[in-house]
Amino acid sequence: MLHPSTRLSWISDAVGYGVRATQRIPKGTILWALDPLDRVFGPHEVQALGESLWPVLEVYSYVNGSGKRVLCWDHGRFMNHSCEPVSLSPGVDFELAVRDIEEGEEVTCDYSSLNLEEDLNCLCGSPNCRGVISSSEFSHLAPLWDERLREAVAHAGQVEQPLLPWVQDREALSRWSSHPHELPSAIRHHFPFRDAVATRSRSAQR
Ligand SMILES: [Zn+2]
Repeated sequence: MLHPSTRLSWISDAVGYGVRATQRIPKGTILWALDPLDRVFGPHEVQALGESLWPVLEVYSYVNGSGKRVLCWDHGRFMNHSCEPVSLSPGVDFELAVRDIEEGEEVTCDYSSLNLEEDLNCLCGSPNCRGVISSSEFSHLAPLWDERLREAVAHAGQVEQPLLPWVQDREALSRWSSHPHELPSAIRHHFPFRDAVATRSRSAQR
């Protein structure tokens, strides 16, 4: 479930839909948390769906650290990539705002952390754009994500947390806000076999 102060929004003809903040969201806020309405498909369940639905899953779901596909039920599935994302996920099933997000600003994550099957050409337009989004960069990027996440989680206890009911281990979150270095690393989401198949490139961002 995405933070309630977000909405689906048309970004541009090149990018399509995305997610914007409807009011200011401070650093350390949980922006997304896995909830019971989200669907999680193991490899056999994906097979059983039939290949006519695989393109839908490829666009709207992501692969978690266990190799399962997660399909968000709400507008979370429209969140776009940025090489300078405002939202990152530590090694647990939620995402944190890694800086303050202003009203109207697009809420973005980093697709390199989503175990992509194929590399994607990036349209994010940020000054530090990597050009290609690839999960082969996961190990390289995870320490940078962890640094930003640990700085952000230190604020988690001082900001409103409307998604707290969906956080599996609320006691741990309280501990991490006091001891940020104990926050599990984003590398826990890495599903390494994807590196072996991330060989093709395509021009779509999502
Ligand atoms: Zn980029």
